[in-house]
Amino acid sequence: DLSHGVALYLEDITVSFDGFKALNNLNLAIDAGELRCIIGPNGAGKTTMMDVITGKTRPDSGKAYFGQTIDLTRLTEPEIAHVGIGRKFQKPTIFEQHTVFENLELAMKTDKRVWKSLLAWLAGDERDKIAETLRLIRLDKEADRQAGLLSHGQKQWLEIGMLLMQEPKLLLLDEPVAGMTDDETMRTAELFVSLAGKHSLVVVEHDMAFVEKLGGLVTVLHEGSVLAEGDLATVQNDQRVIEVYLGR
Ligand code: ADP
Repeated sequence: DLSHGVALYLEDITVSFDGFKALNNLNLAIDAGELRCIIGPNGAGKTTMMDVITGKTRPDSGKAYFGQTIDLTRLTEPEIAHVGIGRKFQKPTIFEQHTVFENLELAMKTDKRVWKSLLAWLAGDERDKIAETLRLIRLDKEADRQAGLLSHGQKQWLEIGMLLMQEPKLLLLDEPVAGMTDDETMRTAELFVSLAGKHSLVVVEHDMAFVEKLGGLVTVLHEGSVLAEGDLATVQNDQRVIEVYLGR
């Protein structure tokens, strides 16, 4: 049961590339329904951490659990997606020739849980779910528009909508507001805040106005481990964090 307690638990994760430790005894615990931001200078290990969670990279040592019982180090990438971990990369992978609505429909159909999709379709739930997602990602007025014609920000929202069609318990988002306008950035923050609770979110982001607007706990990575953790104001005033950022 993942509806309460810990959503994600990493303990002493180490990943080496040719002897270089990209992650060095990394520890991280994300509560169910939490919205966590991960910040840190380039090379801190943020991408490697996401790769370990999604099974793209195997840790040399350490534990990685999804909920209380699912050992992520024993699962393949597709299996990890299937248990409810969705990842959004920076570059959107939408179907540009198809409409916004069709993109969401296709995302639902790629759901491996065929019986579930079929039952939902028979019950007429599918269109309801797409309509609800369209409202959530603020694209309800663009449903019949070709996805390739959307703005950069709208494309990012569409891809988040496509992830949501798979009903992930944990969403991993890599620099979701990169290239967005200030207005799109703030709307994205509102979207993420509204998703928290029902989903757990781990957001890697450099944009501090965005991180502030999200309002959750912030984890600062440095040289493959956690340097500081707390609310944004606390970590921003942490002398070690200031040194790492100024010393870049
Ligand atoms: P971040 O996302 O915080 O910028 P990364 O996780 O991408 O950091 O990288 C952490 C460190 O590990 C960097 O020094 C990077 O050069 C190194 N690294 C990452 N992936 C590889 C790889 N496949 N092979 C060799 N070194 C890597």
